[in-house]
Amino acid sequence: MKKLTISPQAEKKLSKGIQLLDSRDFSAPDLPEGLVELVNQQGQGQARAYLSPQNKGVGWVLPQPGQLDETYFIQLFERAKGKRQHVVASDLTTAYRLFNQDGDDFGGLTIDRYGDYALFSWYNPWAYSQRPTILAAFRAVYPDLLGGYEKIRFKGLDYESAHLYGEAAPAPFEVLENGVRYSVFLDEGLMTGIFLDQHQIRGRLVDGLAAGKSLLNMFSYTAAFSVAAAMGGAYSTTSVDLAKRSRELSQAHFAANGLTMDQHQLVVMDVFDYFRYAKRKGLTYDVIVLDPPSFARNKKQTFSVAKDYHKLISQSLEILTEGGLIIASTNASNVSLAQFQKQLDKGMGNQTYRTLAVERLPDDFTYNPADESSNYLKVVIMEVTA
Ligand code: SAH
Repeated sequence: MKKLTISPQAEKKLSKGIQLLDSRDFSAPDLPEGLVELVNQQGQGQARAYLSPQNKGVGWVLPQPGQLDETYFIQLFERAKGKRQHVVASDLTTAYRLFNQDGDDFGGLTIDRYGDYALFSWYNPWAYSQRPTILAAFRAVYPDLLGGYEKIRFKGLDYESAHLYGEAAPAPFEVLENGVRYSVFLDEGLMTGIFLDQHQIRGRLVDGLAAGKSLLNMFSYTAAFSVAAAMGGAYSTTSVDLAKRSRELSQAHFAANGLTMDQHQLVVMDVFDYFRYAKRKGLTYDVIVLDPPSFARNKKQTFSVAKDYHKLISQSLEILTEGGLIIASTNASNVSLAQFQKQLDKGMGNQTYRTLAVERLPDDFTYNPADESSNYLKVVIMEVTA
């Protein structure tokens, strides 16, 4: 195995248990691809890792010893399965994460379960190159699943989604979460119709967080939050997303639950335009959900969670009823909870509020406790006070 020298800072980072490697951890400008032994400046071995270019970072420490053969991955998958026994135990939820990167000691790979099908996401070419071994191990641990799909989350291949093994899933088909149906698709682009990491928030809505209330769902994608709220007794929902396709996908989630659209509006519009429109029309909402992408650019402006989130809060206050709720979410891994909180406070200005809950990743999205950036999801539920 090739030896690579890491910086003293990287040595410290590794001793804390961080697995994600960064180009700044190395002095060598050209990094090899594949398995390497990381040594400190004194030449002492620190960890085994694999290197491969990816969107975030340059590779991952492999904390588990042993040859990377089928047995290795069987052990990883069995351990990951054990951690999720309580999720598996409920037949009201049939979609959840089975394996989560460094939270399960192998970064660069996630595996989700959608009903009887598995969805593999490869984050770099080296993890992808281990497919035969990983797949064989996975099928040994989950012989009951009917088939699998994959998503390519790195640059360089000419496809981003494909069928991987076994039976083809119906398209679309429905999965259950907290007893609510969602219409999903496994073989179209990188999305599936639902973001599984939000099931705690949808769970709160199903449990009645917005019961009897009007809810505005900003950046709604397939309106999953609105459907959960409707099932939990919300009086009305309005879902706003820029993407035209969001309308049809949202309708599918509502239809899957036998909900009519009478009290549920789908709006294809820029959220900042919608804030202006609602203000002009005197529309107000009891609950506003904000779930923007980490970074977005349109013709007029760019939006980044780190710098601009406060604008979403201040705009929301203008159309929020007295005593209303704001559910502020972000999946930006580069923004800490403290930094996010600062954006929320800035947006609140002189408005007083009470924090009802702060949600992080759900249990099936095991993260690396040593690395705050791996617990990327932050959702703050706030109630404005007089
Ligand atoms: N809240 C959703 C996920 C949101 S994903 C859920 O729980 O499923 C982010 C969404 O923001 C995408 O669907 C994208 O089309 C939309 N989007 C990005 N910029 C936007 C803008 N300026 N106005 C409205 N929607 C926007």
